[in-house]
Amino acid sequence: MKNIKMITFDLDDTLWDNMPTITKAEFETRKWIEDQVGKVEWGDFNDFIKIREELIKNDPSVQWDISKLRKEIFRIKLLHIEPESYRNRIVENAFDLFMLKRHEIELFDDVEVVIKDLSKKYTLGVLTNGNADIYKFDIGKYFHFSISSLEAKNSKPHRAHFDEAIKQVNDVSFENILHIGDHQIHDILGAFNLGIDTLWFNNNNSEWDQDFLKPDEFNAWKDLPEIIKNKYD
Ligand SMILES: [Mg+2]
Repeated sequence: MKNIKMITFDLDDTLWDNMPTITKAEFETRKWIEDQVGKVEWGDFNDFIKIREELIKNDPSVQWDISKLRKEIFRIKLLHIEPESYRNRIVENAFDLFMLKRHEIELFDDVEVVIKDLSKKYTLGVLTNGNADIYKFDIGKYFHFSISSLEAKNSKPHRAHFDEAIKQVNDVSFENILHIGDHQIHDILGAFNLGIDTLWFNNNNSEWDQDFLKPDEFNAWKDLPEIIKNKYD
């Protein structure tokens, strides 16, 4: 049995349902921009992918600095707005609004009580590819550290987040970590590659689609303490 000392958590779609939040944040930010400057051609998803590729060619950091990516996309969509100083002000204010709305999340049932409980026994950390800040929420007080892609300068499943995690606490190596997340590749494969134990949060009954053994899964946070207890106590 492994001696687990630290538990790391993904955020988006693990602690809360991200899609409604992001969709609303995106919608309200675009509406605010259009209230300022009139109709904007936002383009579709393929358009977004093309712009993203172009931006990465000029500035590879856009791959992991998703806040910069978002601002640069706003800037491109608003290229017709003059003068540039006004355009830049709109971009900055729009981004601030987006970030405000992006944090209007609702935790899944029982997250708060389970996190509080686990924090008494384990060092807890956040490993996220997104730009939500756990310390903006009350629940943030239970987390010893939080590492985003901006800080890791890479995105899971790359090992950078996990490498940063073990630097946060003395005497913790990969074999002392349990990583919990919803994403089969970003979270589970990323951790598996380093020999880190995982639990898969699968609340939409997804099929396991990887060519290594599926880790234990759970679909309701209330079940998590018992699973951890049975495996590691
Ligand atoms: Mg996730």
